[in-house]
Amino acid sequence: MFKKVLIANRGEIALRILRAARELGVRVVVAHSKADADSLPVLLADEAICIGPASPAASYLNIPNILSAAIISGADAIHPGYGFLAENAQFAEMIAEHGITFIGPTPENMRMLGDKATARRIAREAGVPVVPGTDALESPAEALAAAEEIGYPVILKASAGGGGRGMRLVHGPEDLENAVMQAQEEAKAAFGNPEIYLEKYIEEPKHVEVQVLGDGERVVHLWERDCSIQRRHQKLLEEAPSILADEVRRGLTAAAVKLAAHIGYRSAGTLEFLVDRDGNYYFIEMNTRIQVEHPVTELITGVDLVAEQFRIAAGEGLRLRQEEIESRGHAIEVRVNAEDPEHDFRPSIGKVETVLWPGGTGVRVDSHVYAGYEIPSHYDSLIAKIIVWAEDRPAAIRRMKRALGETVIDGPGLKTTIPFHKKVLENAFFRRGAIYTNFIARRMSE
Ligand code: ADP
Repeated sequence: MFKKVLIANRGEIALRILRAARELGVRVVVAHSKADADSLPVLLADEAICIGPASPAASYLNIPNILSAAIISGADAIHPGYGFLAENAQFAEMIAEHGITFIGPTPENMRMLGDKATARRIAREAGVPVVPGTDALESPAEALAAAEEIGYPVILKASAGGGGRGMRLVHGPEDLENAVMQAQEEAKAAFGNPEIYLEKYIEEPKHVEVQVLGDGERVVHLWERDCSIQRRHQKLLEEAPSILADEVRRGLTAAAVKLAAHIGYRSAGTLEFLVDRDGNYYFIEMNTRIQVEHPVTELITGVDLVAEQFRIAAGEGLRLRQEEIESRGHAIEVRVNAEDPEHDFRPSIGKVETVLWPGGTGVRVDSHVYAGYEIPSHYDSLIAKIIVWAEDRPAAIRRMKRALGETVIDGPGLKTTIPFHKKVLENAFFRRGAIYTNFIARRMSE
């Protein structure tokens, strides 16, 4: 096992990684921006090194500074968390040249799957169904021909896209040519790469994703998560297991393992699928990192995914055998964002004066927030994840309502998404499990 890990991230995920490292007996260096000097992971770390000013480009994406921090502190591994450098193959290669282990997939894994158009091609190669669509588009004419064949509506996506951005819905041929040009420009501006492709737009799908772990030789799945509760393609609430027929679940998990094994995947990864009303499933992309919503899987399987990432990166191999990985009960996670749901979810930053986290059986809180903490304005708005486990879905919903009822996060002008989550939990469609990616737009719009 490693002696010292440098965490190149912030917020709740930095704390999550710190906790796993500590239990494994690994010393922790937290690399942080100036704006995060008072954050909880920094306060709890064995060592903390400031890597630059608040702006992510100058700190959490600043490869030379992060590498120097790792070298100076004598870290033998770096955990990138999610976002920032987590899926940057070049970063992984650079640190390896300095004898430092990247806790994550191989650079080849990241290159093959980081680009969505390439990932689609690899999935087809592996015999995994993808949404009907194209490879990278060369021209608007090609898009028109493809859309004609597939049928409208279609969705244009940036090959380098992520985080729910860089997608454009097109309803008919009259809009397509313009949309292609705009999508290319947007993709270039947002991701530095104008490449786009086209997919059939699946109406009212469920977003179901499969958690896998691989060690380069063997891959296992840890069941699936339903992440259909989304606003503008951003996940807000996740649960496991998903509400699917068993044969669909079997098909999905087997397809995920097949694809990950096909590329000799190493570390934790997630294969995302859309499932249509008829139970057909289509691969959409793979996230080659630990994900925000990983705790729901930890609660139904009892596996510490971050600790497994450490063990695999340290060369201890994959300890789990597929038959040992059981799914028990039901878990739900809500993302508590510092946003005002009453005003179009606009960011609501400020100082947190009072915090009271929920507790009791089956409740987990992953948060870097404490009383007196000032939420910086430079980063994403996630301030906590509240996750519950119970024996079945109705009990998990009751437990989450109870937990949110106990939670207090207060400060001058501070708003969070908790009231919104309470409404979701009361919604009859949600309770019945009638959840699709348009749930919020359709059922929560008033
Ligand atoms: P990102 O990488 O930006 O998260 P994804 O490809 O994972 O993008 O898609 C995010 C979400 O967008 C999906 O969960 C789904 O709600 C919606 N979406 C993506 N592709 C399609 C599609 N072909 N049809 C319908 N909805 C889609």
